[in-house]
Amino acid sequence: SPQLPRPRETRVLTVANQKGGVGKTTTTVNMAAALSQQGLRVLVIDMDPQGNASTALGIPHAGDTAGVYDVLIDGTSLAEVVHESPSLPGLWCAPATVDLAGAEIELVPMVAREGRLRKAVRAFLRAEEEAGARFDYVFIDCPPSLGLLTINSFVAGSEVLIPIQCEYYALEGLSQLLTNIDLIKEHLNPELQVSHILLTMYDGRTRLSSQVADEVRTHFTSTVLRTSIPRSVRISEAPSHGETVMTYDPISSGALCYLEAAKEVARSPRAGEEGSTHE
Ligand code: ADP
Ligand code: MG
Repeated sequence: SPQLPRPRETRVLTVANQKGGVGKTTTTVNMAAALSQQGLRVLVIDMDPQGNASTALGIPHAGDTAGVYDVLIDGTSLAEVVHESPSLPGLWCAPATVDLAGAEIELVPMVAREGRLRKAVRAFLRAEEEAGARFDYVFIDCPPSLGLLTINSFVAGSEVLIPIQCEYYALEGLSQLLTNIDLIKEHLNPELQVSHILLTMYDGRTRLSSQVADEVRTHFTSTVLRTSIPRSVRISEAPSHGETVMTYDPISSGALCYLEAAKEVARSPRAGEEGSTHE
């Protein structure tokens, strides 16, 4: 049984930052793993054609695998493409294959092109809930761009989780990201909100890391999770073993910090409590 509260309804978090290499995928898979280890039912949707989240979760995503591409372009149901993690029961993944890169262009002339992922996610979550297998969390791992794959991810989610790397150019491009989120909110998805910011690759030995962290906390106050993720070799080694750091080295500082950060997310007011009523 869950050691963390189940959210009142399924929370769909879009993990986004148009910069590459800031920890989006690492945060997606490790948060998802941590929550599933706590007994919650979690789905990861890999929206990056590179398929790094699929790799890290040990989910096959070779060219002939059915994945998110088929969902977006051919209207295949998510139920047909999801796989359960071999090492973490309760953690599911919709894999990305390389053809997803082409979807960015193929989506352009399509009807309701921005809402195709949302429609698929809604139908899947409804069917699972009716079958008595409600998902607690969905994490959508975005590519490093602001194209139609990312727009689909914003429209499908109700919350945005932004990882920020503790380095010099961390805040560059952040205002553009926030402007885009506002535009999505205004035109396509009124419920969308930046619910959490996570500081990643924090290096306590450098003044720069703590300066960036201070600046982000001053700007974004309580949206920033109290737990920062340290720079850790174990975190970066795990994906090459087809694992998250949560199983690869569960007592490493990286795993413990992702667990703490996941607990903060699960206990945030956004989650509500199962059985409690709407205010
Ligand atoms: P993104 O998805 O934003 O492009 P990734 O999550 O793939 O970023 O991270 C970029 C690289 O940094 C990867 O090689 C990853 O293993 C590594 N990395 C991410 N977080 C950490 C960390 N806390 N400590 C060390 N390496 C990390
Ligand atoms: Mg990534």
